[in-house]
Amino acid sequence: MSSPPAWPKPPSPKTPVPLRRGVGPEVLLRKHTRREFRERMQSGELKGCIIPVAAIEQHLEHLALEHDWRSVCHVAVAVAQRLRPHALVAEGLMAGISEHHMRHPGTLSLRPGTFLAALADLIESVVRAGFKNVLVLNGHGGNTAPVNGTWEQFLRMNPINLHFLSYWDVLTEADAKELLKSGHQLPSDLPGHAQEFETALALAAFPENVRTQMWTDQPDKKPSMATAKQGEEIIKRVVERVTVYMQEMIDGRRVAKIPPYFP
Ligand SMILES: [Zn+2]
Repeated sequence: MSSPPAWPKPPSPKTPVPLRRGVGPEVLLRKHTRREFRERMQSGELKGCIIPVAAIEQHLEHLALEHDWRSVCHVAVAVAQRLRPHALVAEGLMAGISEHHMRHPGTLSLRPGTFLAALADLIESVVRAGFKNVLVLNGHGGNTAPVNGTWEQFLRMNPINLHFLSYWDVLTEADAKELLKSGHQLPSDLPGHAQEFETALALAAFPENVRTQMWTDQPDKKPSMATAKQGEEIIKRVVERVTVYMQEMIDGRRVAKIPPYFP
């Protein structure tokens, strides 16, 4: 792979740019100026990048369309905060592959080829920026098969430590048995779709997205079993385990294997 272009000379940096002192350096890539980003990358403190991907799609009658995007970003930011100052979150692709939800207007769906092309460009952008550890963190089931089916190509195009993980994959059936009342099957109950799991997560992290006056006013009433307390425990476990996953990537204990090329 060719090396990234030489850094442009900074315009006479007399004083270092303060990076939100008091709360620690910013974790969202888009909040940096080019100088702030450049200086942090050049200093060597930025070790890992999380690219969240998800969907904007119907979530029954009671959850906002943004649920998958909002939840994966919630996890990504919490993980980056725990890894401060070594990780950033690079948002750039809100919609996902949601053709199977298009009977419900309001859903935004990308064709698989469009989604994969945009994801490839985002990965290449952060690799060219200097990141050697990149985690594509997924929050929507419809993206999983297309990404897994083409992941070998992504690895060959970006021979760095590149990983793809759906955030619920760090949870097990034992977690589902302990945390959920309506069912314990993976993946139909965990993560499920707008069911108890996702509703609990929203109640804990962004309750304004849950229309509790609607959640029993639909054929499927299981989402109404969710509580914010459940959601807090789900988020705690997910964030802890994804943080460990990313820390292992940064430490070199979790290394992506570049698949072989044709001889
Ligand atoms: Zn969802």
